[in-house]
Amino acid sequence: MEGVPSWSSMPLTVCAVPHGRDSATAITAAVRATNARLGFDALVMSPGPSCEIVLTTGVPHEAGWMDSAGDARFTERDGKVQCDIRISNVHGELEDLVMRHELGHCFGLAHDDFGASIMRPEQWPTPERTIPPTLTDDDVELLQLTYGPGLR
Ligand SMILES: [Zn+2]
Repeated sequence: MEGVPSWSSMPLTVCAVPHGRDSATAITAAVRATNARLGFDALVMSPGPSCEIVLTTGVPHEAGWMDSAGDARFTERDGKVQCDIRISNVHGELEDLVMRHELGHCFGLAHDDFGASIMRPEQWPTPERTIPPTLTDDDVELLQLTYGPGLR
């Protein structure tokens, strides 16, 4: 992925732009789950207007999206890097999976192909799945080393 930022400070502020029922709650849950997995507060919800991540849900699907149900792009606004996440009109567990996947892109993570990795390109809830997808141990370690408290 091109243009991956080296975020200079943590936590990153997340501004939620929810369209649709329950999405605001889902965004907060995805942020909490990501922080819990990383073991430190990498993300914090912000009322705006300044935010490093803008997470918009309920967006009509656009051609050229990186993922089937969402996209994360880096833009520059007023000289500051911003990660814009757009998520299509998905709900429930799929919405949660796509959000946590796109948040991974905002940290600079690329796709991988591990069975239980949240960074697999395709994330579909399946009844036979026994391990819920999450950041891999390697990704967690990388993000802790890169962004973890006390290391900057
Ligand atoms: Zn992706």
